[in-house]
Amino acid sequence: TTEFHGPSGPLPHVPDDVTLVQFMLDSDHPSRPVKRILQGNPWMIEDATGRQIGYGEVRMRTHGLANAISSRWRIAEDDVVCIFGPNHVDYPIAVWAVHRLGATVTCANPAYTAGELQYQLETTKAKVLIVHGQSYSVAIAAAKAIGLSLDRIVLFDPLENSASSSYKHLTVHELIKEGLERPQSYVERKLKRGEGRTKLAFLSFSSGTTGKPKAVCISHYAPIANVLQMAHLANQQPGPWEIVKYRTGGVAMGVLPFYHIYGLVVIMHFMMFYGASLVVVPRFNLLDFLGSIQRHKIGLLPVVPPMIVLLCKHPAVKNYDLSSVHAIMSGAAPLSPELTNQLAKVLPQACVGQGYGMTETCTTISFPQIEQKICTPGSAGRLVPGVVARVVKPDGSLAGFNEPGHLIVKGPANALRYLNNEEATKETFVDGWVHTGDEVTINETMEVFVVDRIKELIKVKGFQVAPAELEGHVLDHPDVSDVCVVGLPDDYSGELPLAFVTPSVAAAERMKKDPAEAAKIRTSITKHVADAKVNYKHLEGGVEFVEAIPKNPSGKLLRRVLRDRAAELRKQG
Ligand code: AMP
Repeated sequence: TTEFHGPSGPLPHVPDDVTLVQFMLDSDHPSRPVKRILQGNPWMIEDATGRQIGYGEVRMRTHGLANAISSRWRIAEDDVVCIFGPNHVDYPIAVWAVHRLGATVTCANPAYTAGELQYQLETTKAKVLIVHGQSYSVAIAAAKAIGLSLDRIVLFDPLENSASSSYKHLTVHELIKEGLERPQSYVERKLKRGEGRTKLAFLSFSSGTTGKPKAVCISHYAPIANVLQMAHLANQQPGPWEIVKYRTGGVAMGVLPFYHIYGLVVIMHFMMFYGASLVVVPRFNLLDFLGSIQRHKIGLLPVVPPMIVLLCKHPAVKNYDLSSVHAIMSGAAPLSPELTNQLAKVLPQACVGQGYGMTETCTTISFPQIEQKICTPGSAGRLVPGVVARVVKPDGSLAGFNEPGHLIVKGPANALRYLNNEEATKETFVDGWVHTGDEVTINETMEVFVVDRIKELIKVKGFQVAPAELEGHVLDHPDVSDVCVVGLPDDYSGELPLAFVTPSVAAAERMKKDPAEAAKIRTSITKHVADAKVNYKHLEGGVEFVEAIPKNPSGKLLRRVLRDRAAELRKQG
């Protein structure tokens, strides 16, 4: 068989008897370039205030919060706590506090609508919700719908407008204080040898190859392994990526959302493990982003492709001193060779690389090659150590170098399964292999090139949009009899959701009689989605009417046909 292995030799020992919090805060590892007790060197820097949070404070706050949530709500073994907020310096503390108790974390997008959050809370049976004030009203609506009591909703910061709630919610800070004042009431969850491989750390959401978003079961061992895979690769050669390692000026940008697997594992865990000071930024806005780079002298910049588009094209970029940036790493969606080359011109001093991964593999499958200043254009990086990859050709045989096929991977960071969904689990998690749903080629130096996406999934600015979720919703519209949602290629967002709609008989009649009717129906369908879903799921690719949705004889949607039609539409402008 042809199997591809990361070129950097075997992976060092991955501990399977510690939780993620113990790995991060209580232990040293030979792959870690700095010892954990580096007093005075900030682990995090709060972007807006410049407040620095060091190792000791992180550890103490984690303990305080764990103690409070254990004594107040008896959060313990396998209970689920949902974090619903943008990046915040207490975000990792909340994650690790929950892990101290043996409980599980589920992270939700703070821009979600109440319906979307409710789905996540119901699926995971979350018992406590940690919320940012900005998402407060949505949180309350979702909590009411599932019967979660108000006293189990905790705020990251006090509400800006205290009149917006008559209930006085506790803040994370108050809980930490309370937890530090009272004697320890919890027993730290310790793991037996091997237990880390099955003990749940996260329930992260992904739609996988098909269907609606599902909770992906991720063990403690998986993110620990993935952090070590990246660290081992970065340790191999002291190339340009060394900027990540702690030293004065080893400052990384933490603007990509922690609730997504890339932010959670690569930024929050790997970068803090590897010693970078993480500048924690709640949301992306180009001018603030440029200002933060300049102010904090950021060296390492993890980004998604739309940010690179702005860096290359926006006139304001030249007004900022970005000379501190030494490494830029893109991920979550494809970065074109053209854009890679443009970026190299805008920031000539910086290394540019791309990583590739997915929620179901607890992130990184390939990582920027550290000895190259500019990655091979189009390359999504090199297989990380410990990952075994097979590229399966359409006839079922295994591809050799540079031959395209479906990528399946086995590695220590693979997730376990989808929660309560055997059917989807069987499709994606097959005998220890994760079926990525991506078409790739792999070359002689183990560089991965993502050629196409075979699965239904649409990616808008790196965010997942599950066509099945939108199709279900659009079908509820009275003027729709059938629908198929595909991605319309877009220079900025990568793709935009486009709905091909077959109108109902009545709607079709109206459209025949009155030429203005089509536009009305289109607007109404667009609004139907915009009212219920987070912004990146909106039908910004448009609504196109078709007589019938193409299907094969057994009724399966022929998405490929409509994807090709979308590509045509885009060419016609
Ligand atoms: P998620 O689980 O949200 O991280 O989505 C994973 C999917 O995003 C992958 O299966 C790919 O389809 C896509 N993806 C992630 N990184 C890249 C990349 N560097 N190039 C192309 N596609 C990517």
